[in-house]
Amino acid sequence: MIRQYELVERIKSYEPTADEGLLNRAYVFSMRAHGTQVRANGDPYFSHPLEVAGILTELKLDSASIVTALLHDTVEDTIATLDEIETHFGAQIARLVDGVTKLSRLELQSDKTKQAENFRKFLLAMSADIRVLLIKLADRLHNMRTLGYFDEADKRRRIALETMDIYAPLAERIGLQTIKDELEDLAFAELNPDARNSVLARLNFLKEQGGDRAARILDALKQTFAEARIRASVAGREKKPYSVWRKMEQKNVAFEQLSDIMAFRIVVDEIEDCYRALGVVHRAYPMVPERFKDLISTPKPNGYRSLHTTVIGPERQRIEIQIRTREMHEEAEYGVAAHWAFKQATEPREGRQYRWLRELLEILDKAAGPEEFLEHTKLEMFRDQVFCFSPKGDLINLPRGATPVDFAYAVHSGVGDTCVGAKINGRMVPLRTKLSNGDEVEIVRSKVPAPSPTWEGFVVTGKARASIRRFIRTKERQEYMALGRAIAEKVFRTEGQEFSEAPLEAALPRLKQKSIDDLFVALGQGLLTGKDLEDGLFAGRRIEGVATRALSFMRRRAGPVKAGDTAIPIRGLIPGMAVHFAGCCHALPGDRIVGILTTGKGVTIHTIDCDTLESFGDTPERWLDLSWDTDGGDDGIHIGRLMLVITNETGSLGDLTTAIAKNKGNISNLKITDRSPDFFEFQIDVEVLDLRHLTNIMAALRTLPSVSSVERARI
Ligand code: MN
Repeated sequence: MIRQYELVERIKSYEPTADEGLLNRAYVFSMRAHGTQVRANGDPYFSHPLEVAGILTELKLDSASIVTALLHDTVEDTIATLDEIETHFGAQIARLVDGVTKLSRLELQSDKTKQAENFRKFLLAMSADIRVLLIKLADRLHNMRTLGYFDEADKRRRIALETMDIYAPLAERIGLQTIKDELEDLAFAELNPDARNSVLARLNFLKEQGGDRAARILDALKQTFAEARIRASVAGREKKPYSVWRKMEQKNVAFEQLSDIMAFRIVVDEIEDCYRALGVVHRAYPMVPERFKDLISTPKPNGYRSLHTTVIGPERQRIEIQIRTREMHEEAEYGVAAHWAFKQATEPREGRQYRWLRELLEILDKAAGPEEFLEHTKLEMFRDQVFCFSPKGDLINLPRGATPVDFAYAVHSGVGDTCVGAKINGRMVPLRTKLSNGDEVEIVRSKVPAPSPTWEGFVVTGKARASIRRFIRTKERQEYMALGRAIAEKVFRTEGQEFSEAPLEAALPRLKQKSIDDLFVALGQGLLTGKDLEDGLFAGRRIEGVATRALSFMRRRAGPVKAGDTAIPIRGLIPGMAVHFAGCCHALPGDRIVGILTTGKGVTIHTIDCDTLESFGDTPERWLDLSWDTDGGDDGIHIGRLMLVITNETGSLGDLTTAIAKNKGNISNLKITDRSPDFFEFQIDVEVLDLRHLTNIMAALRTLPSVSSVERARI
C-alpha cells in the first residue's frame, strides 16, 4: 500500500503547487469512511482508492483527480454524502466524485433499449469532465488487477466482458494505450486463459530459440542511427498476448506469420528527425511492401501519431518499427492525460483526443433520442455488436455479421418465419447482406411462413438458426405425411378397400409405428414401402382367401406374368414362359427391349441400353429379340423409376408431387438416396402408361426451378 507521504511526494514531483493539506484531508476522510470494510482478498477496503490514486499519479493527473480517486467510492459504499464532500473539498471535487459515482451505477444491462439509453448517460457523465473517465478507467484497472479474488466465476466473467467491450475501447479512444493493453490482457486472462497461456508459451519459446536476438537487433539499430548521426533512443517492445491473439484471429494467420512479434520503438527529438530516421531504416534494411503507415501526417482518430514500418531486419527477420517524437510518445502512452502534465487545471490543453468527445456532445444535443444518437455516432465501442433500428425506431442489438434474417428473428420468430425480403435504409437488399451500425431495417413479409434452409448458411444468431431448423423440420414432416397418406390411399384403392384409419391403427404394431402420422411419414420418406403397408394391412386376409381380387399393380410388378397376358403386349415371347421386368432398367412401352432367358425363371426384360446386358455378352443364345406390341391396346400401368436431384428448399417436394400429379402420373414409391445441406437426391417410382408419358413428366419436372436434374434410374 502506498503511504500517505509517498502519494503526496509523487504528485508534488510533477505539480509543485499541489495543495498538500487537501490531499491529506482526502486520505484521512476516505480511510475513516471505509473504516473496517475489507476487499475480497481480505485487504482493508481503503487500499483500493489508494491504489487507484496511485495509478493516476503514473498518468501525472492533477491533484483534484487524485483527491477524487481517494474519495471515489465513499458516496456509493459508505455513509458519506455528496454534501459532506462538497463542504470539505469544494464544488469541483464534489462534481467529479458525483460523475464517477454515476458511471459506476451504470451497469451494462441485458435489456437492449436500456443499454442504448445507459450508454448515452455514460457518455454524458464522462464528457462533462474527461477526468471522470480517467478516474473510472483507473478504478476499473485496479479492479481487474484484483479480479482473481472474487470466488464467483460468473461475476468475474461479467466484469471481464464489460472491460473488453466498454472500458478497453474507451481507453483506446482517449489514447491511453498502455492502460488499454493492460485491461485487455487482464480480461483475456479471465475470458480465455487457455488461449492466453498458449500464446505466452509460444512467445517464450521463440524468445529462447532466438537467444539474445532482440538485443543483437537493438545494437544493430543503435549502430545504424549513430552512423547516420541521428539522436534516437531505441527500445524493444514486448507484445501483449492479447494483441498477438487478436492479430492471429483477425488476419487468420499462424503465429509464425506474424511479422510484428519483434517490435522496436525509435524516439527522436523533432518531427523532421522522424522522417530522417525512417530514411535511414529503409536504406539499411529492405522494407516490406504495404506495411508502411504515416500516422504523423494523417493521425488516427484518437490523435495517435507515429511512423510505422516493417522491414527485413539485421537478423533477416521481419521486424516492426515505430518512429515518433518524445511528445508523440508521451501522448501515445498517456493519451489525454499527457496534457495534464503541463496544464492549467481549469483549461486543459485541447488535444485531438477531445475532438471525438466534443463531436459526441454536439450530437447528443441535437439527437432526439438514444437511437438517433447511436445512429449518428456509429460507435466502435461495442466492437462485436451492431445496433440497428426498426422502421418504428426500436433498437435491435445484434452480433457483428448479423443479417436482415437475424434482425427479423430478433424482432419476433413470427417475423423471421414470414421474412421474404429486406430493405436497409429504404433499399431492397439480399437477405444475406451484413448489417451496419445505424441501419434501419424493414422486413418484407409474406402471408405464409416460408423460411429457406439456405438461410442457415449465413445467419449468425442462435435464435434465427434454431427457428429456421425447427420450421424446416416441421414442414418436411408435413410434406412427407401428405405423400405417405397418398401412398396409403393408393394401397387401399388397389385392394378395393375404402380408405379408413381404423385398419391402419390396427396395423401400427406390425409396422412398428407409433402413430398414423408416423406411419405416413415413414411411407413418405420411403422407410416403408407401399408393399410393406399392403402386407401389414391385408396379408392376413389373403391367407384366409378373402383377397381374391385381381393382383394389384404392385403384385403385378413384383410377381411373374404369363406370356400372352394382355397386360404385357410384347412380341417375340415364348408362349408359356414366365416374364419379369428387370429391376435395373424398368422398361416401359416405347423403350427398345430385349429378353434374357434364365433356366427355371423365364424371361427377364431389359431396355436395350441397360448396363446389366454387358454381363450376358458372351451368351448370345440366351438373348430374345423383343418389341412392344403398341397396337395391343395396352392400358396397363407400368413403373418408371426416376432419379431426381432437387435443391433443398421449402416447398420443393410439394412442387415436385404437384407437377407429377398434373401430368397424370402417380407416385408409388419415393426414397431419399442422398441428402446434403443443399440438395436432395430422390428415387421416385411413377406409375405411367408408357415411355412418352414418363418423358412428359420428366420434361415437366425439368421446368421446376427447384429441380436440378432428372434421369431415368439405371440401377
Ligand atoms: Mn472503485
